[in-house]
Amino acid sequence: MDVTQWTRPAVLGMAGYAPGEQPQAAERVIKLNTNENPYAPPQAVLDAMGAALGDALRLYPEPDSRSVREAAARAYGHGLQPQQVVAGNGSDDLLTIILRTFVDPGETVAALDPTYTLYEPLVTLQGGRYASAPWREDGGLPVDELAGLRAKVIFVTRPNAPTGHVCALSEVVELCTKTQAHGVVVLDEAYGDFADDHGLGLLPDCPNLIVTRSFSKSMCLAGARIGLGFMSVAIAEQMHKVRDSYNLDRVAQVAATAALDNLDAYAPLIAKIKSERARLTAALRQRGFDAPESQANFVLAKIPAGALDGRGWLAALRQKGILVRYFGHDPRLSDKLRITVGAPHENDALLAAVDGILVG
Ligand SMILES: *Cc1c(COP(=O)(O)O)cnc(C)c1O
Repeated sequence: MDVTQWTRPAVLGMAGYAPGEQPQAAERVIKLNTNENPYAPPQAVLDAMGAALGDALRLYPEPDSRSVREAAARAYGHGLQPQQVVAGNGSDDLLTIILRTFVDPGETVAALDPTYTLYEPLVTLQGGRYASAPWREDGGLPVDELAGLRAKVIFVTRPNAPTGHVCALSEVVELCTKTQAHGVVVLDEAYGDFADDHGLGLLPDCPNLIVTRSFSKSMCLAGARIGLGFMSVAIAEQMHKVRDSYNLDRVAQVAATAALDNLDAYAPLIAKIKSERARLTAALRQRGFDAPESQANFVLAKIPAGALDGRGWLAALRQKGILVRYFGHDPRLSDKLRITVGAPHENDALLAAVDGILVG
């Protein structure tokens, strides 16, 4: 029997997305490779999740995560209505829903280069054609080039992964305006809470804009799989038809609502990560790394000239029990490490390991 004869060519022809390493629970490592939050979720969130573990688990959750969407509208302001919110099983789920809503086989989906490496496999699975445009030298959006692709969906990651830089919001507006006749612009704000500004306020002026947020990074809930999309009511209506009927489980819905009702509890955690980001960036520069400003919870650091290449650094840090992310397949990234900003003691351990490697 040969299952490949029944497998869709799009699936056969792809390698599949390779997520960052998730070590076994027993393995003692300092995990700076997938941009999780180093801090525990606020107690109010854990209490709400604990209270959800009971008889009610027999019952299906709210199909449309209505309570979560109401909490999101309350929490984020900007005149947002719950009808403008779609919840996802992680924001990756929202990316899939967006592609399934808008993209037929053969249609174009565009993104920047470099950017989040999940977009391309998702587009391939949908049978779409993935096109990318390089960021401008100054980190700005190549608006006319992107608009010229006439894509059904354009992904703009802000802050971008893995560079951590942001483009100007005015360029996002310009891109939305110039692409209104062709499709939607997705502003992926998985790291938005770590940035100086964000795009939720653009929604009233940009009817073809979708803003996505993740609870995995700033909200300390990567294990609960929660994401939110913000958009016009008209787009939300179409996306609700496409998503799985119960795409957020009961415990995740309760966690999301509690997190949104307790945004104040997150402010000090996010502030701490931002101040550690500045400290880590400066300390890496002192050690000869080229580390540009980041507005996310990671730093993309170019390794200093020396005996070790990127792969060598990855292995040397791994040997000292520290995981970072390395994108060796991309020639522009193969001399860089993406390092998640951890808690102070984790960042100290990383810097001590770097010192040890540098003295050889
Ligand atoms: C982490 C990440 C996501 C996915 O987040 P989940 O909510 O965990 O699915 C989406 N976009 C970017 C750019 C990310 O880095």
